[in-house]
Amino acid sequence: MKVKKINIDTVIQENQENLRPDSFDNFIWQEHIKKVLQTAINSAKKRKWSMGHILLCGPSGFGKTTMAHIVAKQSAVNMKVVTGYAINKPAEIVSILNSLEEWDILFIDEIHRLKPNVEEVLYIAMEDFVIDMVMPEWWSVRIPLNKFTLIGATTKWEWLSKPIKNRFVYDFHFMDYNDEEKKIIIDKYLKKYWVATDKNVIEKIHNKVDSVPREIHNLCIKIRDFFVTEWKNEQKFSQNLREKFLIHSKIDDGWMSPIHKKYLDILRKNDRPMGLKTIAIQLWMNEKWVEEDIEPLLLKLGKIEKSSQGRILI
Ligand code: ADP
Repeated sequence: MKVKKINIDTVIQENQENLRPDSFDNFIWQEHIKKVLQTAINSAKKRKWSMGHILLCGPSGFGKTTMAHIVAKQSAVNMKVVTGYAINKPAEIVSILNSLEEWDILFIDEIHRLKPNVEEVLYIAMEDFVIDMVMPEWWSVRIPLNKFTLIGATTKWEWLSKPIKNRFVYDFHFMDYNDEEKKIIIDKYLKKYWVATDKNVIEKIHNKVDSVPREIHNLCIKIRDFFVTEWKNEQKFSQNLREKFLIHSKIDDGWMSPIHKKYLDILRKNDRPMGLKTIAIQLWMNEKWVEEDIEPLLLKLGKIEKSSQGRILI
């Protein structure tokens, strides 16, 4: 890695920047998805029409939201962001759809959590860009909508109903990130944060984190914080600093953070299967975070198992 001449002010200033990759080039991996989306964007621009609706499926932290932001930016349109569980009534989705300007993108995160009666409003809106309003005397009025593109993101593709799945023109499943992509992401973020380092340090640090871009990014933020704080005469995140950093952040070889260890301690102390809700309460965390951000690594490492009675230590 090329070492730039830097000073502490530059490091601090760079850190205030928008942190998400803002172009397909800066988004590492998922080449097939990027290629097809770029074609869809180009086509929409040429046709002067909205893009087909897009469904992004994959684990939490794999870049679905980031990808949606990039699509909006490349298409030069506005994007409204909502979360599936926050829309409770059909009237709420109607009001969101009505507020969209021509060609806007509506991004619904966790789309699998939409209620069936809310989802039904989307069917006709996605297909014909209209909504049907039922009036008190049981007659209905059809209201036209501006042309929009719906981007849905889900960690639970299997929970989506067939009618909603069918209305997405593009249905993308994010691929796993391997060691090579992991190293590229670390390298990119450390450069972005002006943390100069060597290839062999990246080689030694990449196995300290799970292959999830959000986790990788978080590791780089921790390295940046450590580097900025430890900043003296050292211009580089060296092997020596790397070792100090690992001790300081309590990161061990199994990629587990203190919260993963706390999760395992809770199961160990109880010595019986435990429900997600009980574990989440003891961790002071929301069930969704535990299920999507803590458990995948423990399952991957073979530390726990999900059974019909609850979570079990292996
Ligand atoms: P999701 O919506 O799938 O939960 P996000 O899009 O919120 O994931 O991504 C979480 C973080 O990980 C973002 O801050 C982004 O910076 C980073 N990230 C995700 N995917 C990538 C990628 N492919 N390349 C670089 N950074 C990524």
